Formats: sequence, C-alpha cells, structure tokens
Amino acid sequence: MRQETSLKQPDCLPEGHIHPPRQKVTKFRNSDRVFFMREISSPENAPYGFVTKGFCETIGRTPLIRLQALSEATGCEIWGKAEFLNPGGSVKDRAALGIVLDAEASGALQPGGTIVEGTAGNTGIGLALVGNARGYRTVIIIPETQSKEKIDGLRAMGADVRTVPEKPYKDPDNYIRVSQRVADQTPNGFWANQFDNVANRLAHYRTTGPEIWYQTEQKITGFVASVGTGGTLAGVALYLKEQNPDVQIVCADPYGAAMWSWVKHGHTEINDGDSVAEGIGQSRVTKNLEGVQIDDAYRIRDDVAVEMLYHLLLTEGLFVSLSSAINVCGAVKLARFGGRGQVIATILCDSGSRYVSRLYNPRWLEEKRLTPKSNGLEFLDRI
Ligand code: PMP
Repeated sequence: MRQETSLKQPDCLPEGHIHPPRQKVTKFRNSDRVFFMREISSPENAPYGFVTKGFCETIGRTPLIRLQALSEATGCEIWGKAEFLNPGGSVKDRAALGIVLDAEASGALQPGGTIVEGTAGNTGIGLALVGNARGYRTVIIIPETQSKEKIDGLRAMGADVRTVPEKPYKDPDNYIRVSQRVADQTPNGFWANQFDNVANRLAHYRTTGPEIWYQTEQKITGFVASVGTGGTLAGVALYLKEQNPDVQIVCADPYGAAMWSWVKHGHTEINDGDSVAEGIGQSRVTKNLEGVQIDDAYRIRDDVAVEMLYHLLLTEGLFVSLSSAINVCGAVKLARFGGRGQVIATILCDSGSRYVSRLYNPRWLEEKRLTPKSNGLEFLDRI
C-alpha cells in the first residue's frame, strides 16, 4: 500500500534553526511496518540528513571538506572528499556497488550467487555489505599482511575470508590470481575483478566526479589521488576532463609503486623504495587506468605522509588512512607548484579506525621509524 503525504514542519526547533523546505514524502506500509521516503538530490535540501531506501542507496554523496590550515598556508582552496563517511566506511563502497549492479545487469551475477574478490580490504567490506543487502554470499581473498582490523571486520560482516601470503602479481599464488581461480571453482561464482573491471571507474565517473564538480561549483582546477586499482583517479579524471580539459589530474604515488614512473616516463620500471600505506601502491597499468590523461605525478614519502596524517587528525579533526594523507600531501604539492588561487580536491579514502593497531599505535610507528615530529606545518617543505 502506498500513499502520498507531506512532511509536517516540526515546531520544536530552537530559535534560528533553519527549517527544512516542505517536501513531498512517500509513505509506505509493508505488512506491519510503515516507513517514509524522500528522494533528495543534495544536502542543501536535506538539513536533517538524507533519507534513503537502504544500504546501497546510502553510498556516495559524501561531504567535501575544506582543509582549513592547508588552504590558508597555500593560498589555494584545498578540499578533501569525505569518503570515510560512506556506509561501509570507504571510497570502495562506490566501486563495489558499481561492479555488482553492472554484473547483475549483464547476467554475470545471478540471484543467490557468490561474489569472489581479491582485495586489500576496503573493496571486500563494500562487496560484503552490498552482497548482504542484495542477497549474495561473498568470498574474500586477502593478503595476510593487511591490518587485523580489516580482516576481523570482514569476517564479522559475514564474508568468507581466506588469507594468503603476499606474492607479486606475476606469481600464480598472488591474491588476485587466487581469487580468479576460486571464482571459477565456485558454483554460481562471480569474480568482481576490481583492477580490470571498468565498472569500477565507471562508478566514479558517474558519481564521485560529478559530485566534486558541483561541490566545487565547477571551479575545480586540480584533482589528486593515489592509485590502488586506479578506479577513483581514472573515473574522476575522465569526468572532470570532459567538463574542463584544463583541470589538472595528478597521481600521488607512494614509494614502492610504479605509477609515478608510468606517468613521468611512460614505463613501470621504477618502483624503488617501500611504503606501509594500505590499499594503494600499483605496479602495473590496470584496465581502469587505460586511456586516461594524467598530467603529473608526485612521489610521497611515508614519513612526510605520517606528519600529514597527524596534522589532519590534530588540527582538522580528520581521522583517516595513510593513503588519504598521501593524497593530501599531493594536493599541497600541487598547490605550491601551481601557485595561489587554485581549487584542488582530493580523496579522504577511509577512516583511521581501520589502522588503530598500526598508524595510530606509537609503538608500531617507532618500530617503523615513522614517529611524527612536527609541531606545526614545517613538514610541508619536505613534501
Ligand atoms: N586508499 C585505500 C585505503 C584503499 O583501500 C584504496 C583501494 N584499494 C585506495 C585508496 C585506492 O582506490 P582505487 O582502487 O580507486 O585506486
């Protein structure tokens, strides 16, 4: 049963509180439960927050947060897209939903089927939750080097989690290759293949890109992101370049990865050094990255990124991952390189709560020789 009604203006609000515009609300009755739905297109229209139909519809439309101290210090507008506020807690919720919807539409994923994926964690969390919400089992193959929080979390979310030793991509026992084999051997199995399935970047082309474009009032001049699968960087880049080809697209790469080498020199041979950043650090050009114009790349050192991590936490109140801090370092480097007046956006990929035993554990930082030492912003000179 379905009937139209309208939202009653609450009269209990304190003086000066902005009242919501009157909106049409659809009232549903489903057996003994009644619930209300509003289709809301932007947060301005939703001063009390969004109302959505379920987990999947809650993915995306994240806030864009001005990074105050860094904007003041550089004379640019530096913005962080708060992807840690997605319902599964990371930017990968978007890719997970995009991949699942695409597979449903093509018939690759059948009702009651099993989603299988090799993932450093966040895509697995997104797939497990999207899977639960849409009626699929999820099998996750994850390198045993990933944080305990992510592995335990995935199990708690109902995924069948199998840890494997970390092996290079060319090794047949690499976690991605194992996941493909497991999918082949699973009845009604679907291999999500986030690295080479372009439904991943399409999700960002359709959602993250337009959100950033309109949240910056079409004034964005630069976008910076690190690369795991490359879905975020590529999808957002494709959308922004279509709107304005002058928007600078920059890859922020950790040491030990080959994206800097690929963007700067056209090959993936330089991948010296190492990084403790999880979820990023790509050594090959994935299908998601193919054909995308990336204008520049920076290499960001872990010790400087950890300084940024603690700056973001202690000065801005943002509790995020090292990949997020690497992204923000890249945004600051672009700000300083290109000069004042730029409008630069980057991605705050996931929450620091996934790294409490590592990045937010003084003993672990000490062991890795990554204890932050800066009091102010002097570390910006070392980016
Ligand atoms: N940061 C974290 C913490 C991630 O898990 C990922 C995805 N693996 C990324 C950044 C990079 O996202 P993408 O796969 O879209 O390149």
